[in-house]
Amino acid sequence: MDVTASSLSPRRRTRQIAVGSVKVGGDAPISVQSMTTTKTADVEATLAQIYALAGAGADIVRCTCNERAAAEGLAQIVPRSPVPIVADIHFHVEMALAALEAGVQGLRLNPGNLRKPEEIKLVAAEARDRGVPIRIGVNAGSLHPDIYERFGGATPEALVESARQELAYFQEVGFEDVKISVKASSVATMIAAYRLASETFDHPLHLGVTEAGPLPGGLLKGTAGIATLLAEGIGDTLRYSLTADPVEEAKAGRQLLEVLGLRERTGLDLIACPSCGRAEVDVIKVATEAQSALSALDIPIQVAVMGCVVNGPGEARHADLGIAAGRHRGHLFIRGQIIRVVPEDEMVAALVDEAKRIAEEGVEARLAARDTSAEAAAEADRAALLDAKGLDANNAGATIERIRRRGIH
Ligand code: SF4
Repeated sequence: MDVTASSLSPRRRTRQIAVGSVKVGGDAPISVQSMTTTKTADVEATLAQIYALAGAGADIVRCTCNERAAAEGLAQIVPRSPVPIVADIHFHVEMALAALEAGVQGLRLNPGNLRKPEEIKLVAAEARDRGVPIRIGVNAGSLHPDIYERFGGATPEALVESARQELAYFQEVGFEDVKISVKASSVATMIAAYRLASETFDHPLHLGVTEAGPLPGGLLKGTAGIATLLAEGIGDTLRYSLTADPVEEAKAGRQLLEVLGLRERTGLDLIACPSCGRAEVDVIKVATEAQSALSALDIPIQVAVMGCVVNGPGEARHADLGIAAGRHRGHLFIRGQIIRVVPEDEMVAALVDEAKRIAEEGVEARLAARDTSAEAAAEADRAALLDAKGLDANNAGATIERIRRRGIH
């Protein structure tokens, strides 16, 4: 059975805010965020990256606003951006006010960096008057020193306390248009902090493992933390923090939500068997070629590449489309039913062709148009392979014989 959103814990109900046109929290789809790495003052380069991020699945993009030139850049970027823009404010209250003036749809404040209560309240009041939400972005690496000392480190309780204090300042000026993050680079700390935050606040939560590092480790850390929480029903928006092209962050966020069944699939989901002694073809090569050819089509489809016809079509019967290798031929199947048998060197081309036809005509029409002799041809291949390899697909019997001949005891 497929894992779908209904297999996960029910999503914890949070209040809803709007970051420009994107709703966050409540029953809004979980959104994907990323951050530009360009100088915000370089308007064209930043916009090019924002478009690339939006194309890769980002719903909201954050840009740093660290100097006046960056704020001026934002004034030009915001009206031309395809997605809402959040300004990241580090230490300077003036930058927060300038970003609001530039028209950003959200702010991110780090309570560890912007510390003076009167400045925090000034920004909150200005955001309130403009109807712009703020993320209280607590980070274990830059926790307020007082809180760090009181809790004896950047513990989950300390992270949540930092968010609570910041929220209290906001509430003093009647502002609660807020989402909260309590990120840490330790996955275990981050998970505990978000669980506690989820019990403490009803504001939307922005998930992330901070400073997760380069691929593939960063992807693993981010997924370990974010997916664990999503499976528990915690989280309304997310960002992977990777030391990589931010497009990878957007792709990862989008794919994670799709594989958990929390967002509709927009592109290819390629599944492939890990290969084994039964494989009749180089599965890694065929799967890699299929991935690159099918990704380019931009069709929301699940495609399977299976190394043998004995188990392949059955094991991947849930896939929209698949191919399994056998006796120098490929068995093309739709939802487990063989529709065509093609020469081995045409396997990838046949997948691409059929994926396009499914996108145009639909699965049922393609099943109805199947080659009716294909099932019999496929069955003959399966029977021949079973005959040839039987249960000993890994040729263990021959290996054992060799060991015996060498007299190894
Ligand atoms: S589909 Fe065939 S080749 Fe692939 S892992 Fe399964 S048995 Fe092995």
